[in-house]
Amino acid sequence: MDFSATPEQESIRDAVRALCARFPDAYWREQDRTSAYPDEFVRALTDAGWLAALIPVEYGGAGLGITEASLILEEINASGGNAASAHAQMYTMGTLLRHGSDAQKKSVLPRLAKGELRLQAFGVTEPEAGSDTTRIKTFARRNGDRYVVNGKKIFISRTLQSDLMLLLARTTPYEDVKDKAEGLSVFLVDLKAAVAAGTIKIRPIETMLNHHTTELFIDGLDLRPSDLVGTEGQGFRHIIDSWNAERILIASESLGDGRWFVERASRYASERVVFGRPIGANQGVQFPIALAHAHLVAARLVRDKAAWLFDADRPCGPEANMAKMLASQAAWAAGNAAMDTFGGYAFAKEFDVERKFRETRLFLTAPVNNNLVLAYIAEHVLGLPKSY
Ligand SMILES: Cc1cc2nc3c(=O)[nH]c(=O)nc-3n(C[C@H](O)[C@H](O)[C@H](O)COP(=O)(O)OP(=O)(O)OC[C@H]3O[C@@H](n4cnc5c(N)ncnc54)[C@H](O)[C@@H]3O)c2cc1C
Repeated sequence: MDFSATPEQESIRDAVRALCARFPDAYWREQDRTSAYPDEFVRALTDAGWLAALIPVEYGGAGLGITEASLILEEINASGGNAASAHAQMYTMGTLLRHGSDAQKKSVLPRLAKGELRLQAFGVTEPEAGSDTTRIKTFARRNGDRYVVNGKKIFISRTLQSDLMLLLARTTPYEDVKDKAEGLSVFLVDLKAAVAAGTIKIRPIETMLNHHTTELFIDGLDLRPSDLVGTEGQGFRHIIDSWNAERILIASESLGDGRWFVERASRYASERVVFGRPIGANQGVQFPIALAHAHLVAARLVRDKAAWLFDADRPCGPEANMAKMLASQAAWAAGNAAMDTFGGYAFAKEFDVERKFRETRLFLTAPVNNNLVLAYIAEHVLGLPKSY
């Protein structure tokens, strides 16, 4: 078993690190303070080709796998940045590449690769359904050669910064299907056109972190059958490819956050002298940092395996979910260790610990909360009785 990274993977890490060095702590602190979208950073990432990492070469992308995409996002967060500003352009590929039509790929992928379009919005969650996705109510009604969509979505991020959105809607009512995962469909929506036509209205939601999330009101959205991604009624299964990609990528962002916390806490604990010695000489300070590091290393192995399975087009649901849960927990423990290590200074914005702490907290809850990961493992992997 060879655990070493390939030279190509090492060079990806180095190149992303070099790009991120142009966007230091002060840049991210200012974006956070002003709740601004880090447009300059996302543009730099696009121009360098990193946001087209997963797009096949014939469409102008780099043709890399989730393994490499994971390294890109991990390095961004390890540098002190926040890859959430751009990650959806990667996980939406899970569904689009595997289930999109040739015509959809030809019309969209080259323009995404060039940065002429952004596909940063993924519209699944609804106010009433919450984590119970099969209960979503947004409905796409077939009307001759059109679909007319009505409904509501909540916490749909980057809709104001995207040209396109992947949208999950019901095409058969919940009550009319025996298998509740049937009767859902995925659509590729021209978001800008819908907003201009008034068929999608966007309401920003203020959150505890700088994350551009919104509520959507969909009223008479007009779609064509050519906007359908994959097979009508099979959307839940198609979207799982994006969910698995998303969980692996979020695990990677968590790992990056965790590395940042451990690195900053270790440095501060070695330099800060109280009672005549570095605080890091006290085991009460050093053990939580060391423990967080050990958990991050373990979570990374699960992330790497999940990514390897995904890239081999093999089932990866358990590994992708476990990677997300373990990495988000490890990052959270690392964040708490950093908060304790920095003492009062952890609360001062200029040290960035409190900002990263707010950012990494999200991953315990979204894109899937860790309770539901445990329920998935218990019920789908271990065969325990169903709770949902
Ligand atoms: C900043 C942010 C950005 C987001 N971006 C997007 C996006 O771009 N696109 C998108 O589609 N969604 C997005 N989401 C939504 C996110 O995926 C959901 O918030 C998340 O899946 C949890 O759903 P919920 O908030 O409805 O919680 P609920 O389903 O209401 O659950 C609330 C809590 O109850 C517990 N719970 C619920 N059911 C069970 C159960 N069966 N067993 C045990 N515990 C349970 C869980 O602990 C959970 O945390 C975003 C959310 C946030 C906060």
